[in-house]
Amino acid sequence: MSAFDALVEALRRLPGVGPKSAARIAFHLLQHDREGAHVLAQALERAVAAVRHCRRCNTFTEQEVCATCLDPERDRTQLCVVETPADQAAVERTGSYRGLYFVLMGRLSPLDGIGPRDIGLERLYARATDGEVSEVIIATNFTAEGEATAHVLAEALKARGLTVTRLARGVPIGSELEYVDLGTIAHALVDRR
Ligand SMILES: [Zn+2]
Repeated sequence: MSAFDALVEALRRLPGVGPKSAARIAFHLLQHDREGAHVLAQALERAVAAVRHCRRCNTFTEQEVCATCLDPERDRTQLCVVETPADQAAVERTGSYRGLYFVLMGRLSPLDGIGPRDIGLERLYARATDGEVSEVIIATNFTAEGEATAHVLAEALKARGLTVTRLARGVPIGSELEYVDLGTIAHALVDRR
């Protein structure tokens, strides 16, 4: 395979990038932005080598344990479960949550063959039963898959003796937290049940 074709093949690994887009990106980088191509290549190498998962909350970090988990100001009795780091950032921006997080890095999706083991629910259960956490706030997205995930989590966590709450409605059905305005998320946190 030629170097150009290998690049196109590699670009096709990106979500939502088909063969035509991949060829267009490859052409652009090689013809118009070789400097950008270097920056991209180096950033990828660096991130793949340095980024790992926080041992406590599972989010991306370059440390054993991330800065949020180490923050002594955070309320260790509350654990908010979100699907992605972007969702965590959305809750953080509201400024109305001072507890800790667990980032699933995905959601249950039986149709796509993504089950409890694939998104590491056992790690969440272990984290939530550390003895300090008393309330788990489930803030998965209000999509069909997010709701299904919330249901499975709620049952399993309640069975382990934890108080489980879900972000209140008000977050529009079908929506991903990342794109919901801050006031709505803040209200949903206050009105959780
Ligand atoms: Zn962490």
